[in-house]
Amino acid sequence: METTTDVIVVGGGPAGISAAITIARAGLKVILIERGRFSGAKNVFGGAIYTKPTKEIFPDFETSAPLERKNIMHKYAILGEEDSTVVSYNNKNAEASSYTVIRAKFDRWMADEAKKAGVIIVEETVVKELIVEEGFVVGVKTELEDIGAKLVILADGVNSLLARQIGLRDDIETKDVALSVKEVIKLDKEKINDRFNLEDGEGCVYQLFGGSMLGKLGLGFLYTNENSVSIGLGITLNELTENKITPYELLEGIKKHPTIAPLIKGGELLEYSAHLIPEGGYKKIPQLCANGVMIAGDAAMLVDNLHWEGTNLAMISGKLAAETAIEAIEKNDFSEECLSAYSEKLENSFILKDLKAYRFLMEAAHDRRESFFGYYFKKINEFFESFTSVDSIPKREKYWNFLKNFVIGRNILEIFKDIWGVLKILWGIIVP
Ligand SMILES: Cc1cc2nc3c(=O)[nH]c(=O)nc-3n(C[C@H](O)[C@H](O)[C@H](O)COP(=O)(O)OP(=O)(O)OC[C@H]3O[C@@H](n4cnc5c(N)ncnc54)[C@H](O)[C@@H]3O)c2cc1C
Repeated sequence: METTTDVIVVGGGPAGISAAITIARAGLKVILIERGRFSGAKNVFGGAIYTKPTKEIFPDFETSAPLERKNIMHKYAILGEEDSTVVSYNNKNAEASSYTVIRAKFDRWMADEAKKAGVIIVEETVVKELIVEEGFVVGVKTELEDIGAKLVILADGVNSLLARQIGLRDDIETKDVALSVKEVIKLDKEKINDRFNLEDGEGCVYQLFGGSMLGKLGLGFLYTNENSVSIGLGITLNELTENKITPYELLEGIKKHPTIAPLIKGGELLEYSAHLIPEGGYKKIPQLCANGVMIAGDAAMLVDNLHWEGTNLAMISGKLAAETAIEAIEKNDFSEECLSAYSEKLENSFILKDLKAYRFLMEAAHDRRESFFGYYFKKINEFFESFTSVDSIPKREKYWNFLKNFVIGRNILEIFKDIWGVLKILWGIIVP
């Protein structure tokens, strides 16, 4: 191999850039290979990046990165056919916990920071396969040339063909991955401020449940950018195939809902995109390292789908993989045993602690989706409809009617199964 380096990082998303910049800052040679025209060119997310984890990699990002809005308002909306129940948490004065960003700008900025730190970034280049010699990954094959390295970090996203090539990962089952579609809708800054009750620079995040996704394992989102709104949803692939529905139909349903339509009215469609999200959770995390290679971010299925956290897990896993690489290079030991320090670092971090705490979540969500994502949402809206209507029916009678209908509408066995599902989730959270 003509070109050799200390570490090759495959993929220029948050995981890959965080890994590469950490290695470069330690004075080692690192090449990052990204298939897109530039980092972020094809990357899709909701979305918000989270302040604290981002600061761990880019301490001054709040003053230098291209940010859209500081999220001060979080809304959780249960959409019925026509009505909705919305819970809102607002804090104007708190430190920003997250910012909306446009990935094409933000990832590009991260890549520029990495270049400044000494990372060699090779763009518009696909890594075709890993080079394995005597059981060790020793480099990568691109369309143009073979490049050798002491270590390779795979940060090539949810599909990670390379992790599959060397048997670190199996094919993803359709229930363990969500297809997400998103539209960016242009709206004037002033309109966004008025409609969402924001000041300049402040942002609002909506998590959307029910509506056209009622009873299905799918969630919607709406984020405010400076001059646009991102709206979309993610739904597991098996829901789409079993129900013979398309995510576009579901998104149209969400956009037409009376609670959402006025927020985006008169906006101009700027962009439409689709992407997969790993949803397997803790139990589906693959083997995280082998001789000469580690795997980070979405490629390692590191997404917390309850809290909609992905970029932070990607950044921190990339950083931890990089720190392990630096130690391994110091020891000149690239064996799986030495690299297993990376798994330990992940286990000691919030990443595997959080994913482990939710280890029963996806199983219960799949098994009980019709009730958790359907029946109870309907009942919440029904309750508020009854609570807010003034109709001369005595209140006690109303509450009894609600309770009676709640139990009649649901077979008692199903209620027990739902309670069991909730208990299992709680058990996972409480018991380490
Ligand atoms: C619709 C949607 C909404 C989301 N919303 C949020 C949110 O609001 N907040 C949040 O934190 N997370 C969110 N996520 C999740 C988040 O986007 C991901 O977890 C995060 O991008 C993972 O980063 P990564 O670096 O592991 O992978 P990616 O960002 O996917 O980057 C992988 C990179 O590898 C490159 N690549 C792949 N294969 C090769 C190859 N063979 N050779 C060279 N390059 C290659 C790709 O081009 C890509 O740039 C969302 C995801 C989706 C789809």
